[in-house]
Amino acid sequence: MALLQIAEPGESAAPHQHKLAVGIDLGTTNSLVATVRSGLAVVLNDELGRPLLPSVVHYEADGRNEVGYEAQARQALDPRNTIGSVKRFMGRGLHDITHRESMPYEFESSAEAPGMVRLRTAGGVKSPVEVSADILRTLRLRAEVALGGQLVGAVITVPAYFDDAQRQATKDAAKLAGIPVLRLINEPTAAAIAYGLDNAAEGVYAVYDLGGGTFDISVLNLSKGVFEVLSTGGDSALGGDDFDQRIFCWILEAAKLLPLSVEDARLLLTRAREAKEYLTYHGVAPVTTRLNSGEVVDLELTTETFGEISQTLVAKTLQPVKKALRDAGLTVFDVKGVVMVGGATRMPQVQHAVGEFFKQDPLNNLDPDKVVALGAAMQANLLAGNRAPGDDWLLLDVIPLSLGLETMGGLVEKIIPRNSTIPAARAQEFTTFRDGQTALAVHVVQGERELVSDCRSLARFELRGIPPMVAGAARIRVTFQIDADGLLSVAAREQTSGVEASVTVKPSYGLSDDEIAGMLKDSLAHTKDDAFRRALKEAQVEAQRLIDAVQSAIKSDGELLSAEQRTRVEAAIIKLQTAALSESRRHLTLAMDDLEAETKDFAARRMDKSIRRALAGKSIHQLEAAGNPSQTQVSKGEAE
Ligand code: ADP
Ligand code: MG
Repeated sequence: MALLQIAEPGESAAPHQHKLAVGIDLGTTNSLVATVRSGLAVVLNDELGRPLLPSVVHYEADGRNEVGYEAQARQALDPRNTIGSVKRFMGRGLHDITHRESMPYEFESSAEAPGMVRLRTAGGVKSPVEVSADILRTLRLRAEVALGGQLVGAVITVPAYFDDAQRQATKDAAKLAGIPVLRLINEPTAAAIAYGLDNAAEGVYAVYDLGGGTFDISVLNLSKGVFEVLSTGGDSALGGDDFDQRIFCWILEAAKLLPLSVEDARLLLTRAREAKEYLTYHGVAPVTTRLNSGEVVDLELTTETFGEISQTLVAKTLQPVKKALRDAGLTVFDVKGVVMVGGATRMPQVQHAVGEFFKQDPLNNLDPDKVVALGAAMQANLLAGNRAPGDDWLLLDVIPLSLGLETMGGLVEKIIPRNSTIPAARAQEFTTFRDGQTALAVHVVQGERELVSDCRSLARFELRGIPPMVAGAARIRVTFQIDADGLLSVAAREQTSGVEASVTVKPSYGLSDDEIAGMLKDSLAHTKDDAFRRALKEAQVEAQRLIDAVQSAIKSDGELLSAEQRTRVEAAIIKLQTAALSESRRHLTLAMDDLEAETKDFAARRMDKSIRRALAGKSIHQLEAAGNPSQTQVSKGEAE
């Protein structure tokens, strides 16, 4: 069981019609697009067979632009008009961007969206959304060429810590690129899905993502196929680039190369990155190049030296890891698995340090720079409706069926109506039915019908420890909350005493689309029928409440009735009990009227008695504690 559902009503995929859906990892350094082919997630390469698209866009004065490797090649020559790492600016204002002066860009605040950052380029003023859209458009074209058709939609990944503005900006970029967004999902969740952890044992997983310029750690909890982000952390200025920088410095020192022109510095940085990547697979990396200055560099970098000069960087990643665990209230021993994400986690010293820290071998058999895109593709495939038979994944955008509570008489009180978009939260107050009731059975149900017996039971729990009060006096606030992953939690809280109880449920657990469609059809066919039955049930509940109240009044103040009166009242109770069993609402109403008429006098006498008691110096509180029905809603039926 994992996440997934889709299909707006009437939009469900025709059988055997495969919809073209992709997953996109819109990365700070590199972006990728992947899809599911014959049940297997694969990254789609460019026409030269390269899987990665560097997240770099170069803008020219004639309005054209280049994206990817071509743009990257221009970075050194035309830095101002070559935008890289634009993800850092998404949904951000000018004041959010630190170290602006160290960047080669010309920033400006936008007039329409004051505070939102924009970049002045030869090709015009560009917002980060537009730059991202240019990257996404390139990926869309790549996918459409590879798949031979138009995309139905894409799942795009974002860092778990992305806020609303950053997520919205990402969605806007997709829209601008002509990509329908099936859903944004968190990068660590996508990576976990790629590893199939959503089908794994429940538990806590850590996702360690060391990319080009950023480090992210996420702690996820998997429960019933749904990942919940417990905590996130990281360092937005720590990544593979910093390792390049260390090697660069080592080269400068070893070859005594100062001063250096900007072009030569760029060149050496590229050599440094190549050496770093080479060392992942070899013990020694050659660093040889002829600089523009004419000087020749001819060095060898060993794994040992690289390990030494990068040791503090590796250690630096572990600080946010510790903090994220602490924030989640966990220790390394609670972590079931560690997923390695990001090209920089290929470095053996990183693998080693992470394994040592978590005291287990990290999961690394998938390509760390592809894993996010692969997981996103798997999600997209499911969201687009390309489901294999027997796949009962359910990931909700809207809740397909109403969620509610059982109330007296086996009736359903809907709290969150169907098709509410998630996340959603609603609360409603309920009260007790009987005097002195100290516990409340909360029964969470799903469905459109009026009666509990026609809906699906999701969960039951009890709220205990309600202070004894007369019926209807307790104020129990029940809150329904569905998070973005479709996870429902229901909490009940008695307002005066503060006692609480709660339960977490996955709302559509095990319900197939067909079942959902069937339940909806059913509810439409029964609307009238249901309305009648609801009214009948309500009358039955009302009748029982009246009977209870009268019986409890007789118990406490029976001496106020003559023997004859008592017999008549008891006869009226029996008549009402019989009527309550019939299906006739008219009989029921008549019998209730009778009982109320028979007890009218009795109620008045009890009222007098309670006033006398009150005047004798007792507090209202004591009266209520004594369960005097004249103070409760029950008295309504008796006195009127
Ligand atoms: P992002 O998520 O920021 O877009 P990626 O996951 O694509 O970044 O990671 C890019 C980083 O991974 C770069 O610093 C790159 O040098 C590094 N990297 C890629 N392959 C290797 C390798 N074989 N060894 C070491 N680092 C690598
Ligand atoms: Mg990444």
